[in-house]
Amino acid sequence: MELTETAALPLPAKELGWVTRVRTDPTLLADLANAVGGGPFHVVYPEQFTTNLAAFVDAMVTAGVDGKVYFGKKANKAACWPRACAEANTGVDVASAPELIHALANGVRGEDLVITGPSKSDDLLWLATRHRCLITVDELDELDRVIAIADAGEAVRILLRVLPPSNPNSRFGLNDNELDLAIDRCVAHRAHLRMEGFSFHLTGYSVAPRAWQASDLIDRCLAARAKGLAANSVSIGGGFAVDYVDASPWQQFLSEYQDSWFHTRKTFSGFYPYHANPAGAEMLSAILGSSVATEHSDLAAKFAQTGTRLLIEPGRALLDGCGFTAFPVLGYKPRQDYGFITASGLSLSLSEQWFASEYLPDPMLWPQQEPSTPTSACVGGSSCLETDMLSWRKIRFDRVPRRGDLLIYPNTAGYQMDSNESEFHQLPLPPKVVVTTSPERIRWRLESAGVSHRGGGHSHE
Ligand SMILES: *Cc1c(COP(=O)(O)O)cnc(C)c1O
Repeated sequence: MELTETAALPLPAKELGWVTRVRTDPTLLADLANAVGGGPFHVVYPEQFTTNLAAFVDAMVTAGVDGKVYFGKKANKAACWPRACAEANTGVDVASAPELIHALANGVRGEDLVITGPSKSDDLLWLATRHRCLITVDELDELDRVIAIADAGEAVRILLRVLPPSNPNSRFGLNDNELDLAIDRCVAHRAHLRMEGFSFHLTGYSVAPRAWQASDLIDRCLAARAKGLAANSVSIGGGFAVDYVDASPWQQFLSEYQDSWFHTRKTFSGFYPYHANPAGAEMLSAILGSSVATEHSDLAAKFAQTGTRLLIEPGRALLDGCGFTAFPVLGYKPRQDYGFITASGLSLSLSEQWFASEYLPDPMLWPQQEPSTPTSACVGGSSCLETDMLSWRKIRFDRVPRRGDLLIYPNTAGYQMDSNESEFHQLPLPPKVVVTTSPERIRWRLESAGVSHRGGGHSHE
C-alpha cells in the first residue's frame, strides 16, 4: 500500500489566497462540517466571482468594445452568483423558467437576461417576453412561436442562433438556409419583433474559431440592418478556458499518462484541458485582438467601427477560483499497491463523469499534517455502486488517509458542484456555505437555495 510507482503524477491546483486562508485555519473547516451535520459541503466565495466579472468587463472596455456579460447560470445553481451579477449590473444567461425566475428573484432585471437552450417551452417564451428578456431563437418552429407572441402585441427581442461551420455536427443553431428564411420572417414581422442580432456557442476552447465566427456574424448584422432590422449585437457564447493547473505538471501528466494510473485501468473519452493560456478574460482579449478582416485592424475594431455590441456568456470562467468541495473521509481500505478512500457523498457532486471523464486537479487531505507515509489511493463515494468513484485515479498523498479527515477537491464551482447532483440513496444534497473575508476575520453563512443576501446592515465585525 505504500508503493507509489503505479500512482498518477500529481496535478496540484493553483490556489487563491482566500482558499489558503480557509484551508489553513486550524478549526474553520471542522466547524463548517459540524454546522452542516458532517458533510459533504461546498464552500463558495462571491467576492472572487465579482473580481472575475470585472475582468471580463475591463477586457471589453480596454478593447473599446461596447457590450454585456451574461453569466452562464447552468454552471452553478447557487443564488449568490445572480445576486453578484445584479449588484454589478451585468446579465445572466438562463435556459429554463426556474432559472429565469431565480435570476429575477436575485435582482437581475429581465432586460439583462438572455434565454438560451433549444426548443424553449411556450411558458418560458411568454415569461421571457413579459420581462423583456433577449431570446435566442434556435429553430424556425421556435421563431414562429415567438412571432405569434409578437403578433399578439408583445414586443419581443430576439437573437438568431447560428450553426457554426466549425461545429458542423452541432444539434444547435440555424444553418444558412434556415437563416435566410428566418431573416425574411423577421423582416415581415418587425413591427413587434426586434431582431437584435446573432449568437453562437462553440465547444472547445480555441480563440481563432470564435474570432472568425464573430467576424462573420458582424457581416450578417450589416446585411440584416440593410433590410431594416436592428441587428446590433453578436453573442459569442461561453467556453472561456479555465487555467486549473500550471503548464509543467500538466504537460508532464499528459506525456507520461498511463491507463495503469487508474483503478481497473479505466479509460476516458478525454479530459478537460486543465491548463490553458490564455484563459478567462485574457482569452476574451485574445479573441478581440485577433486579426480577422483586412479593413479593420482587429476584431475589436470591427465591433467598434460597425457599431456592433459584443455579448458574452461565460459560465465556468466566471466561477474560476470561486469555490471548493469538502468530502468527509468515512474510511480507508489499504490494498496491495494502492488503497480506497470512501468519501461521504456521491460522485454525482463532482460532475465531470457527465462527460465520461474525470476531474483531475488533486484533492487534498485536511487537516494538513507533517508528511509521513506516502500513500496512493482512489476515492469512492458512499453508495453501493462500483462505478460511484470520485477519482478512479491513484492519487498520491503524503500520509495515510483516516476516518474523520476531510478530502478537499479544489476549484469546483464551475460545473463540479451541482450540475448532476441527485438524492441517490435518499442522501441529502450537499449544502453550500458562503464565505466572506475581511482583513481581521473570515465569516460564513449557509446559502439559501432561493434568494441570496449579503448580510449587510447588521454585520457587527
Ligand atoms: C453552457 C453554455 C454557456 C456557458 O459555457 P461555459 O463553457 O461554462 O462558459 C454559454 N452559452 C450557452 C449557449 C451555453 O449552452
